[in-house]
Amino acid sequence: MDKKRLELHRGDITGLKADAIVNAANTSLLGGGGVDGAIHRAAGPDLLAECRELNGCNTGEAKITKGYRLRARYVIHTVGPVWYGGYRNESEQLASCYSSSLRLAREYKLKSVAFPGISTGIYRFPKELAATIAVNETKRFLMKNSLPEKVIFVAFDDESYRIYSSLLKA
Ligand code: ADP
Repeated sequence: MDKKRLELHRGDITGLKADAIVNAANTSLLGGGGVDGAIHRAAGPDLLAECRELNGCNTGEAKITKGYRLRARYVIHTVGPVWYGGYRNESEQLASCYSSSLRLAREYKLKSVAFPGISTGIYRFPKELAATIAVNETKRFLMKNSLPEKVIFVAFDDESYRIYSSLLKA
């Protein structure tokens, strides 16, 4: 796989001009705190209206909506696992968030997709392990698929930026 297909961006995901940005949603898909709240504020009320029609989403799965006022054409909503110490299949569920989101991107023929650190905020998943899973699962998918062409990992804080930098260099 060409390493140029993986990028790192520092800052706010809501302003990114990718074909899709991924939302760290909860099972209701009706909005929440963290990146979810920020995406809904930036996209405007039509996003919530479309989300209401989706009847929620299971942990580890993903659903897609339009991006409305965002620069991104689509939002892929995925529900990460809450971290309970690693005894409840959290790693497999987190990997599934990335693969499910990437499969939707491929289905919609999207060229670029940006991910925040799913589950690493309110859901308390350890950042280092989460980033390792994110990068490994994404590489595995890109090796087998030509779409999306590019995946952008968005680090909102310095610690995440440092972790992703070293993983992407390796
Ligand atoms: P979760 O409930 O899945 O843990 P959070 O939204 O609480 O979701 O956090 C997920 C990650 O997104 C955290 O690393 C947090 O720092 C980051 N984050 C929060 N706001 C933004 C934003 N506007 N852009 C990018 N990342 C963000």
